[in-house]
Amino acid sequence: MYDENNIFSKIIKGEIPCDKVYEDKNVLFFNDINPMAKIHVLGIPKTPCLDFSDFVIKCDPKIVADFFKKTESIINQLGIRNSGYKIISNSGINGGQEVPHFHIHILGGEKISFKDL
Ligand code: AMP
Repeated sequence: MYDENNIFSKIIKGEIPCDKVYEDKNVLFFNDINPMAKIHVLGIPKTPCLDFSDFVIKCDPKIVADFFKKTESIINQLGIRNSGYKIISNSGINGGQEVPHFHIHILGGEKISFKDL
């Protein structure tokens, strides 16, 4: 069950500020408050969804495609398309997900090992 009180839902509603990178009616990208790399941006769809599976199963395919197209645009805007990056999405207990609103981590700006995360 989706919890409307999770912190990313509050950020979407403007109840909590964020360090915004890009926003439109469907998506929001912002800097992670506790960066694990020189560049650490979080991307979220504004549709309420728990995790990657919930997003892909529940949402209109156009919304899903739009989110990933925009993710790639942000990667280009961040200047890390050529140098490389990691995209991570944690899900559930075994995935170590802390915030129960689907999000991706975009990490770059330096070489990132799984051991560091
Ligand atoms: P996850 O473990 O995949 O759920 O990651 C949640 C991420 O959200 C962590 O990397 C946190 O540092 C980040 N985070 C939590 N609260 C905020 C916030 N208010 N603004 C930006 N990032 C946040």
